[in-house]
Amino acid sequence: MASDTTLLWLRRDLRLHDSPALVAAADANRLLPVYVFDPRRYGTAAFGGSASFEYPKTGGRRTAFRTEAVADLRARLRTRGSDLVVRVGNPERVVADLADRIDADVVHVHTRPTPEERATERRVETELDAPLDRHWGHTLYHPDDLPDDVADIDDTYTPFRKSVESSASIREPLPIPSIPDRPGGVDAGELPDPAALGIEADPIDDRAALAFEGGESAGLDRLDEYLWETDSLREYKETRNGLLGRDYSSKFSPWLNEGCLSPRRVHAAVDEYENCRVANDSTYWLRFELRWRDFFQFQFAKHGTTPFAPGGIRRREIDWRNDEDALDRWKRGETGIPFVDATMRELNATGYMSNRGRQNAASFLANDLRIDWRRGAAYFEMRLIDYDPASNYGNWAYVAGVGNDSRNRSFDVLGQAKRYDPEAAYVRQWLPELADLPAAHAHEPWRATAEELAAHGVELGVDYPRPMVDPEALG
Ligand SMILES: Cc1cc2nc3c(=O)[nH]c(=O)nc-3n(C[C@H](O)[C@H](O)[C@H](O)COP(=O)(O)OP(=O)(O)OC[C@H]3O[C@@H](n4cnc5c(N)ncnc54)[C@H](O)[C@@H]3O)c2cc1C
Repeated sequence: MASDTTLLWLRRDLRLHDSPALVAAADANRLLPVYVFDPRRYGTAAFGGSASFEYPKTGGRRTAFRTEAVADLRARLRTRGSDLVVRVGNPERVVADLADRIDADVVHVHTRPTPEERATERRVETELDAPLDRHWGHTLYHPDDLPDDVADIDDTYTPFRKSVESSASIREPLPIPSIPDRPGGVDAGELPDPAALGIEADPIDDRAALAFEGGESAGLDRLDEYLWETDSLREYKETRNGLLGRDYSSKFSPWLNEGCLSPRRVHAAVDEYENCRVANDSTYWLRFELRWRDFFQFQFAKHGTTPFAPGGIRRREIDWRNDEDALDRWKRGETGIPFVDATMRELNATGYMSNRGRQNAASFLANDLRIDWRRGAAYFEMRLIDYDPASNYGNWAYVAGVGNDSRNRSFDVLGQAKRYDPEAAYVRQWLPELADLPAAHAHEPWRATAEELAAHGVELGVDYPRPMVDPEALG
């Protein structure tokens, strides 16, 4: 039987298409959609234990992207005769108060597998008089459709992938329901300025791979552009290790992670592309990567808080170094290893970094500097526009050798630089001080003589740092 009044508590599910919680909540006479900016998400967080540290959680770019996504959802709801109620406060207070005010029969939400998100759900549930109805809406596969219980999923990717490819199906994306009227008497509220959340806006850098704009509208446009307008999907497998440009990879991640784009919608679009244009290794490979994303979500559902421990799910005993100065140099992109520095400067300037860049930046910190990988992951958490706890901490742990693979995942950063940036175009873009050097010297300036460097206006240790580690010992 349809409820009389429901509240939809939106989080990282900022869309109307393929939204199980929205479809359930819309089966009511009146519906109040609510988004809460929780100030705790914009302050500092801490890792406890013997290697404890604090870090800022959310940077300017993700805050801006999220605010745009909330504004877009509000606009889309308004064109359907509804609205999005926006508040700043603790969700447990705000959602419970609003549910009381409208006398909600039920509150609908999309659940998430990671501990912080789960804890927030539990706090809200405790404060509510109405029941909290949890839905699952952010992966390709629904957990009920997996061949194994989440607790039994293999800890390595390949068996997981093979089992879902052979024995699980992906549900069709849900259509947008018609949106019931809003209950009266609730002011829609203003979207907060990032400054009100204590977040400084980051400047726009026109070298960014893409000017990411938050929201379902922009996410659907990007899907359209990548598949149909530029036909880039056709060559994804060949280009996906690229470092420069708009279309070497899909750039769907920020929209997927704020929930502006549903992975099932992407999957359905790839199906259509295969029917209309081409089915090849590239179309398979985009799905292959989306399955990686699912894999980490289910791993975090399985392992709870263990993936955040220094030794990860493998519980490895590694004596991680604590070196604030080295960590700061890595963060600033001043390690003296140009390829690593270019990746970090791109991250700092834009909030995005390619997968190849992330692997090398992470490996350098964890495997070459031997600094606690969680310090690096926490820095990514703050900076990334596409941050997701499972994808970020899962990939970091993997590269650091404490995650979902027992093999050594250390990257030879100098070999990678030459392989993936043979002309040093990427390094030159992000390290203008080395822009005039020939490719070989741009990657390894320490191999050039002082005269060779001077001919291109570079003095090592003055214009660009000397390497902070012995380059011969890398990899
Ligand atoms: C150290 C490290 C940290 C990372 N942190 C994040 C993070 O916080 N959020 C995030 O979304 N991805 C993260 N990744 C995975 C990957 O780098 C990004 O998903 C990808 O670069 C996003 O660009 P894209 O959308 O163009 O990817 P594409 O190559 O176009 O891939 C399509 C989609 O597949 C998914 N995907 C691809 N590779 C991975 C992967 N290795 N793990 C999980 N999902 C994947 C993403 O949703 C991506 O949007 C991290 C990787 C590393 C090595």
